[in-house]
Amino acid sequence: MSKNYTLLKKDGKARRGEFRTVHGTIQTPVFMNVGTLAAIKGAVSSMDLKEIGCQVELSNTYHLHLRPSDEVVRKMGGLHKFMNWDRPILTDSGGFQVFSLSGMRKIKEEGVYFNSHIDGKKIFMGPEESMQIQSNLGSTIAMAFDECIENPAPRDYVEKSVERTTRWLKRCKTEMDRLNSLDDTVNKNQMLFGINQGGVYEDIRIAHAKEIRELDLDGYAIGGLAVGESHEDMYRVIDAVVPHLPEDKPIYLMGVGTPENILEAVERGVDFFDCVLPARNGRHGHLFTSEGKMNLFNAKYELDERPIDENCQCPACKNYTRAYIRHLFKAKEMLAMRLSVLHNLYFYNKLMEEIREAIDNDCYAEFKAKKLEAWSKKK
Ligand SMILES: [Zn+2]
Repeated sequence: MSKNYTLLKKDGKARRGEFRTVHGTIQTPVFMNVGTLAAIKGAVSSMDLKEIGCQVELSNTYHLHLRPSDEVVRKMGGLHKFMNWDRPILTDSGGFQVFSLSGMRKIKEEGVYFNSHIDGKKIFMGPEESMQIQSNLGSTIAMAFDECIENPAPRDYVEKSVERTTRWLKRCKTEMDRLNSLDDTVNKNQMLFGINQGGVYEDIRIAHAKEIRELDLDGYAIGGLAVGESHEDMYRVIDAVVPHLPEDKPIYLMGVGTPENILEAVERGVDFFDCVLPARNGRHGHLFTSEGKMNLFNAKYELDERPIDENCQCPACKNYTRAYIRHLFKAKEMLAMRLSVLHNLYFYNKLMEEIREAIDNDCYAEFKAKKLEAWSKKK
């Protein structure tokens, strides 16, 4: 049995659990709110995150390594102190950004050589460097350094890449054990999640899952999805992989997704989620509501006195009208983005709370059907 994760209940394959960390216990399923540079884009602070029910904040290793640098964050006492957030933080490995942001890159056995997307400077990152940076940041959960392959990719490339990802994972584990044993490490209890890869090839995914589960990590992620494949392929891969990951460890589906994607993945046994979608959409006036999506730029909201969502208790909905926030967008006032991002993140965090409640009450399937029906209403 894992000492950190407790599976409290199952409703079908949907899992209700608890994950204990040095920064507090996480109730799962959970959505992690993405603050790339130790802030949610749209002027949302760590104080706001508490108000909108965020349990876990996610920051990006690659971005913080470049700005302000992980050394600066370490000198400031780690990410928790730096951004004034005392709950769990998950940092990604930097791998995804290295592969998606840097135009020039060379993958070698030792790691990846690439150019900074800010100033073109040459940088090297391998498993050890990624662990060192994440250790300097002092996050609660660190992610293993892997290669995120785009879909579709040729089978022989995927096979070779996955083998390398496994070798990298073993190096990550060795390096994290070493770092956690040092006297001046920010968080000596830092945890490591491994990442399952294999593109859309079920057999490669399953073989890889069986291999990495032997490493007895704190949690396991399914990576390399929502990167070009269809939703059907994504659900098929999740269906195939989840049964081969340890039942007594949390499962994290990286970078996913829409509220509909989350409902589908929870039904298949996923516990952790993250996505830039709610914040990004919010910044563009695209809002999630209990009755489906809404574009605040639409002229019909010009004199609309109702809140964004009449069923929402977020700071934006409790205090402001659609007409006002729409005006702020038209006038390019920063407050428009802030209020919309607060609403969208609250919507996601609240959705997860309702999901947990539904699993607790053995009515997940019914809950999911009701939600999907309500969201499909025309706005
Ligand atoms: Zn709201």
